[in-house]
Amino acid sequence: MSRALQSGESRAAARESHVSAGESPVSAGESPVPAGESRVSVGEFSVSAGESHFLGAVTETGAVRVDLPITDARRELRADCERCFGLCCVAPAFAASSDFAIDKPAGQPCHKLQDDFRCGIHSRLRESGFAGCTVFDCFGAGQHVAQRTFGGRSWRDEPATAPQMFAVFAVARQLAEIRWYLVEAIELPAAAALRPELQAAAAENRRLLDLAAGELVDVDVDEHRSEINTLLLRTSELVRAGAPREGVDRRGADLIGKRMRRADLRGANLRGAYLIGADLREADLRMADVIGADLRGADLRGARLDGAVFLTQFQVNAARGDSRTTLPAALLRPPHWA
Ligand code: SF4
Repeated sequence: MSRALQSGESRAAARESHVSAGESPVSAGESPVPAGESRVSVGEFSVSAGESHFLGAVTETGAVRVDLPITDARRELRADCERCFGLCCVAPAFAASSDFAIDKPAGQPCHKLQDDFRCGIHSRLRESGFAGCTVFDCFGAGQHVAQRTFGGRSWRDEPATAPQMFAVFAVARQLAEIRWYLVEAIELPAAAALRPELQAAAAENRRLLDLAAGELVDVDVDEHRSEINTLLLRTSELVRAGAPREGVDRRGADLIGKRMRRADLRGANLRGAYLIGADLREADLRMADVIGADLRGADLRGARLDGAVFLTQFQVNAARGDSRTTLPAALLRPPHWA
């Protein structure tokens, strides 16, 4: 699964996501142009400032909107398969289904995993019956466990470490997902009042992630998640309060296959909602909280997801979209989208 985002291709996709159809790119190094100046015309743009990269837009009224930056903290949470040992291709069990062509017990390498930890069918995963491998995202836990926790020594180098490494990967992946939400929350202007608490929580999350393998494997992730979730809920409320009107509350709702084409879901609470196969074409999900929402097979063609809160690469990969679908700047446009 790690090969779904090989590093070279990830970088290419990242560049693509900054300048997609209809955008008017600004040269790297320029700053967003204040309203009234004429260097940027109406439309979307991407801009780099130091290590951060922003996606924004100049509206008809001349107002400048700048979306979430891609910071180093976000970058760290992107899968870097070149620095991993194919952990997601070995550690979990697979059950043969439409997502995986084979059954595989936990801890056994997928038969397509090569000696160099690359996938032998990386460019043909979907047509080979391994669509699930193009959806999975480890939030950077793979390279963290491989390089930091285990110091670059693979389960092939030291087979005795394999069971612990795989168990640690499962814990670290959950901690890294929590970190993804915390980093986003810290960067949200609407949640500035919570920033000290969020930063303290992120520091605790960092401490846990950096534990030695023997301690990391025993971390109570549920307890940590529960503590963080309180903060994320408050963050969500602050963001959604900024929507033009009160968003609908569909927390945990069964919206499987629901027709919501062109729905105004700005500021909606979609936490944990079941949106499997939902028709969300041209829907507006800006400022909607989608944490934990199940978007498998949801039709997001033409939908606005820039500014959606707590959206993950995993959710995006699992949905369908096209070149008109807008995404938060920190996320990559899946190669399998039209
Ligand atoms: S097919 Fe196997 S080796 Fe390839 S990405 Fe999927 S799990 Fe990994």
